[in-house]
Amino acid sequence: MKISKNLLCLPLTLVTLLFGTLLLPLQADAQTAARPKLRMYLFDNGQINGLEASVFNFKKEEVKSTDFVVVSELIVHPTKGILLWESGSVPDAKLPADGSPYHEGVTTVTKSLASQLKAIGYSYKDIKYFAMSHLHSDHSGNANSLAHARWIVQKADRDMMFAGKEQRVMDAGLFSELKHADTLILNNEDYDVFGDGSVRIISAPGHTPGHQVLLVNLASGPILLAGDLYHLPEEITTGRTPTFEFDPATSAVSRAKIQALVKTTGAKMWIGHDKATHAALNFSPKFYE
Ligand SMILES: [Zn+2]
Repeated sequence: MKISKNLLCLPLTLVTLLFGTLLLPLQADAQTAARPKLRMYLFDNGQINGLEASVFNFKKEEVKSTDFVVVSELIVHPTKGILLWESGSVPDAKLPADGSPYHEGVTTVTKSLASQLKAIGYSYKDIKYFAMSHLHSDHSGNANSLAHARWIVQKADRDMMFAGKEQRVMDAGLFSELKHADTLILNNEDYDVFGDGSVRIISAPGHTPGHQVLLVNLASGPILLAGDLYHLPEEITTGRTPTFEFDPATSAVSRAKIQALVKTTGAKMWIGHDKATHAALNFSPKFYE
């Protein structure tokens, strides 16, 4: 910027006044922009392909697709720590070192959770809080890597996890390390994770006895991470639940509760496994604020 000689001749107070007035709004804008916001990263934890529609109580012709994605979300609070929601379907250690895809049954995983954390400057150790929508194996793949974090879980799910009984879609070996984690046990309760209303765990039992969802209040608008409240979008209109639903009647109550919440908050709902929803989203290292 060129400063004219005439301007230099002006009394200092006048110069300050002139420029001070001009600069004030700019500084205010800069401060607003620099203020850190709640940030959410979306991770790719693989795909589940080729499931029969009948597993979800549908005929093949009634659904668009039964190809699923597996995802997790990292929620970074500007001052109060980091929450990991879900942990993938396969432990990182099982993935080939050369980066080639790992196949196990109907599941394919290409990227480890650790590598996706690393790409944005984090490691498992940086995660202060850990929660899953529920105990199933396609959500607890790397749960044992989070045993250092504060684990937030509904009592009914935790009881089932450590009851020593086999359960469908559960692999107790994936979360054994959580047994002695610093644990916050909720009893069909909602919970304000950071204490400022920015991220709320909402109890939504039925799919499992302690299933829960997450409401993330980003500056750009609220997002409801629905876990497995639904698998297929067709479940929303038909009210059907999968054959492996723990308690369909309770699921119906939870679905009504969460739909009402979505309506009152205006939240966008991300169904955890819905491929179409996630095809339109930005995965890490991009993020939502
Ligand atoms: Zn699932």
